[in-house]
Amino acid sequence: QSGYWLAERDLPAVTLDGTRIELMGNIEFPSEAAHCIDRNADGVGLYRTEFLFAGHDTDPSEEEHYQAYVHVVQTLGPNKPVVIRTLDHGADKFPNHAEKISEERNPFLGLRSVRLCLRNLPMFKKQMRAILRASVQGDIRIMFPMVGTLLELRQCKMLLAEVREDLLEEGIPFKKDMPVGTMIEVPSAAIMADKLAKEVDFFSLGTNDLVQYTLAADRTNENVAGLYNPADPAVLRLIDSVVRAARTNNIGATVCGEMSGDPLFTQWLLGTGLRQLSVSPQNIPEIKKLIRRINLSDAEAMAEKALQLDTARDVTNYLREQKRRIQ
Ligand code: PEP
Ligand code: MG
Repeated sequence: QSGYWLAERDLPAVTLDGTRIELMGNIEFPSEAAHCIDRNADGVGLYRTEFLFAGHDTDPSEEEHYQAYVHVVQTLGPNKPVVIRTLDHGADKFPNHAEKISEERNPFLGLRSVRLCLRNLPMFKKQMRAILRASVQGDIRIMFPMVGTLLELRQCKMLLAEVREDLLEEGIPFKKDMPVGTMIEVPSAAIMADKLAKEVDFFSLGTNDLVQYTLAADRTNENVAGLYNPADPAVLRLIDSVVRAARTNNIGATVCGEMSGDPLFTQWLLGTGLRQLSVSPQNIPEIKKLIRRINLSDAEAMAEKALQLDTARDVTNYLREQKRRIQ
């Protein structure tokens, strides 16, 4: 590790054939932005904002949102992107402010995340306002979680347009061309990726949820942990088609689920066409080291081959073997 800090920290994440890969960090608390800088991340690819709501009896104020976002963007500096994900409450992420979600039989399939935000417009707009206001401080991008249909995405974008108009009227500055992205973490969104791609600037694949919804295996249920596997060929095929849709439509694509920080998948992810990954800051050194040993044309061939395999076990074995070849 010490060798990394001395010598490798400042090396770029570039493949053997010279392709630069953007390696970003996932954060939850504003203080974690410093961990990304410590490891020389290219930005924050996922800023989870649920913590702002934790331990409060009421929703955070616009100012509380704003201060948190400004802290992160100022830590990163003007040239490193910060992707702020709007509130993703529900299911595995519980709010503990007063307005509780009613008991649901299937919370993972229920009123969570952007669905919840679209039922609480004042709260949603308050967060959007703070994000837009902070956007003048650096390279801020907004991203909506759990989008399952085009209509949901359009509703989110319409609200964002309303907030922009309000700010304009009030003479409050914001970046007019702040990029807007959607997470792809629901199979319906992955299937409709070619359409969604025409309405956003970037995709971020949330594989933690995409795996659970694709395989119908609750990510928090130990009884089905054996089924919950990002190496499942069904998951790989979905990811591959989403990346293709992004490339065809010339928009950015990244993976921000745990899969992107797992060295087993690095070659496969680059081989499938991804040029940006967002991982937990502590995984940056290891993933960067691997990226620097990857030859993209080999990675492309192995990505194609993995897509043709039958089972998660076959994929895992194949990816392990391919990883050994470059280590
Ligand atoms: C995901 O689902 O992959 C993701 C990055 O979001 P979260 O883990 O916060 O649901
Ligand atoms: Mg998710």
